[in-house]
Amino acid sequence: MTLTGTMLIGQHSIPGSREAIRAINPATDIALEPAYAGGTAEHVEQACALAWGAFDSYRETPLAARAEFLETIANEIEALGDELIERAMAETGLPRPRIQGERGRTCHQLRTFARTVRAGEWLDVRVDTAQPDRQPLPRSDLRQRQVPLGPVAVFGASNFPLAFSVAGGDTASALAAGCPVIVKAHGAHPGTSELVGRAVAKAVQQCGLPDGVFSLLYGSGREVGIALVCDPRIKAVGFTGSRSGGIALCQAAQARPEPIPVYAEMSSINPVYLFPAALSARGEALAQGFVASLTQGAGQFCTNPGLVIAVAGQALDHFIDSAANLLQRSAAQVMLTPGIFKAYEDGISVLAKQAHVAGKGLAAQGPNQGQAHLFVTHAKDFLANHGLQAEIFGAASLIVQCANADEVRQVSEHLEGQLTATLHLDGDDLDAARALLPTLERKAGRLLVNGWPTGVEVCDAMVHGGPFPATSDSRTTSVGTAAILRFLRPVCYQDFPDGLLPTALQHGNPLLLRRLLDGQREA
Ligand code: NAP
Repeated sequence: MTLTGTMLIGQHSIPGSREAIRAINPATDIALEPAYAGGTAEHVEQACALAWGAFDSYRETPLAARAEFLETIANEIEALGDELIERAMAETGLPRPRIQGERGRTCHQLRTFARTVRAGEWLDVRVDTAQPDRQPLPRSDLRQRQVPLGPVAVFGASNFPLAFSVAGGDTASALAAGCPVIVKAHGAHPGTSELVGRAVAKAVQQCGLPDGVFSLLYGSGREVGIALVCDPRIKAVGFTGSRSGGIALCQAAQARPEPIPVYAEMSSINPVYLFPAALSARGEALAQGFVASLTQGAGQFCTNPGLVIAVAGQALDHFIDSAANLLQRSAAQVMLTPGIFKAYEDGISVLAKQAHVAGKGLAAQGPNQGQAHLFVTHAKDFLANHGLQAEIFGAASLIVQCANADEVRQVSEHLEGQLTATLHLDGDDLDAARALLPTLERKAGRLLVNGWPTGVEVCDAMVHGGPFPATSDSRTTSVGTAAILRFLRPVCYQDFPDGLLPTALQHGNPLLLRRLLDGQREA
């Protein structure tokens, strides 16, 4: 497919008129063709008008048709073949196996949401039948279902050019819920975005859906992004990126005459706890697992283990030495963009003034290569300096040495909200771990035992969320099928004649849903 450098507003290719950007291959610092001119408020207006026009029709598509649409998107993405892989590699510096894996995850996500849509559990149908003879007052017939919020603005992420961008988790869950989607492409990978955007638009056409179900805009966050968030026809926002970007979108959404939810996934340092018995028994293996998780994908994962917490002593010293030795053999890796590389270098130099450097990876051999770093500090310094828990996006981690279990607890209480908290423990550590759990449940969205936080399974039970600043709304997840709930709200229908009820609520239960019927879950 020839890349055109144009936006997609419904089925129309529209060139932007603002300053153009070109993707930069971070491995070579060479700009890639074509140029993508940015959109304007006028383009936002066109896309929102189209999305709003499509909403009432799209939200009532039969479940099977909507599921088929999601599957068709996955098929169309696969049909892009190697062209998509090559372009994504060139725009991100990520290696082929990673991009291939991410394409697999993206298509799996779409197909998983197709299964979810078909099953219909997310409609959460609740029925309280009429009790005309109830004393002292009769009860009406009351029926509840979930309806989609309306058109959703999605901001593509820099670190997941496929799985959290144009047809990634936010888009898949919003489309599954019945919401049209307008994507603001990330400027780091416009060509990848165009390829995937055209695959989605093709699926819209093949499935006979209204044009406005999907649009793709390019341009600046401050112009196109804020205009999207502020448009009265946009009813929710999905975002993955920096804390400052997420907060700016939340503030814009809250300042609207009609405020809307922003599901922003922002910043997390993902504490890893090394409990004493586990640390003594297998410090070397823990160091290997830790360094592998830290350096995977140049550390550019929101679940990267950026903080290690343990009681000081010989076992921890041995772990630090082992990790530092392993790190010394770890090659510097190309980061996603020159801007992200610079932010990493700046973060490292700030931390190097405040903590001891315990180990470093191999020096860079080319442009934009991040050198892994391991730092060590004491709990009292960590507790006194809030800056030590700022996220450094990349392969950097800080080990906090605590005097005892009580200091481990104090450090934990001091932490900001996190996506994950990981516990490495053996049988003798269970009591100490149990004592820490209430704190960790308040702090994080996912708690892991004897694993590593990088690698987020797309499934029904996953929570990829957590208290601020991990996300802007700790009640939800952005990965897994529960992500659909972000884009729904309940409506109750009272005393409706059967013929006027939505199909999901009709008396004969034609969709064969497992309803909550007069207080009992149907089999
Ligand atoms: P970003 O700067 O937050 O950008 C993400 C998207 O939001 C872009 O489309 C951007 O538009 C838009 N945006 C940013 N600030 C905005 C604002 N004030 N108003 C409106 N729109 C705004 O994130 P990034 O480019 O992916 O990476 C920058 C840093 O974010 C990284 O160095 C890292 O620290 C952090 N990050 C964290 C995670 C995580 O999962 N925790 C993931 C990725 C990045 P423009 O392109 O016009 O700026």
